[in-house]
Amino acid sequence: MDAVLEMEHVSRTHGRGRRAVHALRDVHTRLYPHALTAVTGPSGSGKSTFLLCAAGLDRPTSGTVRLAGREVSAMRERELTRLRRARIGFVFQSFNLLPTLTAQENVLLPLRLDGRRRDPARARRMLALVGLDGRADARPGELSGGQQQRVAIARALITEPDVVFADEPTGALDQETAAEVLGLLRDAVGSYGATVVVVTHDPAVAARADRVLRLADGRLARDTARVAA
Ligand code: ADP
Ligand code: MG
Repeated sequence: MDAVLEMEHVSRTHGRGRRAVHALRDVHTRLYPHALTAVTGPSGSGKSTFLLCAAGLDRPTSGTVRLAGREVSAMRERELTRLRRARIGFVFQSFNLLPTLTAQENVLLPLRLDGRRRDPARARRMLALVGLDGRADARPGELSGGQQQRVAIARALITEPDVVFADEPTGALDQETAAEVLGLLRDAVGSYGATVVVVTHDPAVAARADRVLRLADGRLARDTARVAA
């Protein structure tokens, strides 16, 4: 099986000399389709940097990142933006919905940005899929945290991206809602074979992942694959 995401000897350093911070050190890994990978590790271990570099939102200081066979780390900004819009979905801890848009309009945004046809019926189907039937016209301020994160997931999945990156997507949610949100990300793996990468502190999330990458001080300290029984 071909890897969707390849990181070869990726390092990311902030600053120089004695004050340099090594956010990632020589991270080398491949991620495959049809899997949910959890990235864990203590605060400051490089999890967010890993995600940003993998998604082409930050550039490694050295090393190579390839997404669907294309070298992200060498791309120009415009090409990278296009690739991100077409192939990548994001879910953030803080939801990052646009407050003036309705749930449906938020979900349609990635299609709009990618120049694809806006398909309101599809947006409503996505919202129904994440359990928000009938809330298409609600604005983020009228929704609970868990509901907002569901909208964010519907938004991330509407383009059927190759890779979905989520940075602490359940960090702001209670346990039960967190489990439901994780279930939705898992469903994306099952329904169309997405590669989902979830940065998380939460052992319950890691326990439900197919693979767990553990970072410590910017290094890949452990890589555990769970083989289905
Ligand atoms: P995590 O997500 O695991 O908490 P991060 O990837 O955010 O860790 O950060 C890894 C390390 O890199 C930390 O020491 C952090 O302070 C540092 N770091 C991250 N981003 C920057 C930045 N823009 N400038 C300077 N240091 C940074
Ligand atoms: Mg972080």
